[in-house]
Amino acid sequence: MAENLNLFTSTQVVIKDALNKLGYDEGMYELLKEPLRMLEVRIPIKLDDGKVKVYTGYRAQHNDAVGPTKGGVRFHPQVTEDEMKALSMWMTLKCGIVDLPYGGAKGGIICDPRQMSMGEVERLSRGYVRAISQIVGPSKDIPAPDVFTNSQIMAWMMDEYSRIDEFNSPGFITGKPIVLGGSQGRERATAQGVTICVEEAAKKRGLVMKDLRIVIQGFGNAGSFLAKFMSDTGAKVIGISDAYGALHDPNGLDIDYLLDRRDSFGTVTTLFENTITNKELLELDCDILVPAAIENQITAENAHKIRASIVVEAANGPTTSEATKILTDRGILLVPDVLASAGGVTVSYFEWVQNNQGYYWSEEEVNEKLYKKMVNAFENIYTVATTRNIDMRLAAYMVGVRKTAEAARFRGWV
Ligand code: GLU
Repeated sequence: MAENLNLFTSTQVVIKDALNKLGYDEGMYELLKEPLRMLEVRIPIKLDDGKVKVYTGYRAQHNDAVGPTKGGVRFHPQVTEDEMKALSMWMTLKCGIVDLPYGGAKGGIICDPRQMSMGEVERLSRGYVRAISQIVGPSKDIPAPDVFTNSQIMAWMMDEYSRIDEFNSPGFITGKPIVLGGSQGRERATAQGVTICVEEAAKKRGLVMKDLRIVIQGFGNAGSFLAKFMSDTGAKVIGISDAYGALHDPNGLDIDYLLDRRDSFGTVTTLFENTITNKELLELDCDILVPAAIENQITAENAHKIRASIVVEAANGPTTSEATKILTDRGILLVPDVLASAGGVTVSYFEWVQNNQGYYWSEEEVNEKLYKKMVNAFENIYTVATTRNIDMRLAAYMVGVRKTAEAARFRGWV
């Protein structure tokens, strides 16, 4: 049978499994197997050449039993409705795992910002906010950055929302520039959370950071900051990649140099001649592999060839269910996406709290709070996994879904 690469249906299987293990019945699964709300919008934009193009966008709100929904907006040519549904469910899990008072949401627009001018991206961002304004807001659903969106785009979105709502509403969106109410540490938060997971996983396996060889797939927001943090711990980053290829040096790459040369979409390998492919990168001999790019990268086809002893998922959905099983059977410690990448939404929550109270924290305060949340979440999930003898993904789903399930039960929904 062909492997299931559909993120939505494969997520449903794990949610069902997790709810079963927690003792919930079919009714709870019926409630949580899909988003409560899914909005599809069409956004007409005037291009620079005077023509009009109509883009399709989505906002999926998985569940608001716990509180407002929360999650990023991605601008990518491969955005689909099913992907939005899966990603919104993962946000519910992430918020449960780090114990935030939110449910999950996700948004996206089918577009390729690499081919668009700044003006076109701005008009599209503003158009998206106008199109979804009815269902979002600081106490309803709070967007944030995701693949190919950044603090500038958040600023335009916030500005557009303030015009519709006629108030200055910094808590409408997170991941903003600091001068507009952004939080210290938000930009590097995802990578910081991944770093904490790498360190904790290494400890569990008795490994010392400075002796490790690390391979990172992807050089975007998460991958690039992560490469820097890893090399700062003294570990050797021996491989990195972008959408066009990968670089490998068994003696360690010069990360500062690469960071200096990367463009705003994380492209750097096009400047080099001796590149390898992304496929080869994943199979390199290393201690820790961090997929920090896109979905379905480790599959039944290559899971047997992974040589790392720890895989930490910084991207959303990089490993298929079948591959998860193969890696686990081979004794590889897999730290799942919903735990490893939860640092971003955690600091988004801190940003929203600071916006609501109008009092701002120092970077040290943010980092300290993030550290506590991530270490607690890691320990909690690791303990569930070892005591129940299940993989960390299923354990993370159990921990992540529990809060929403309990809230829905108390509300009398199920
Ligand atoms: N897009 C990020 C994620 O997938 C961050 C979401 C947020 O900050 O709300 O976790």
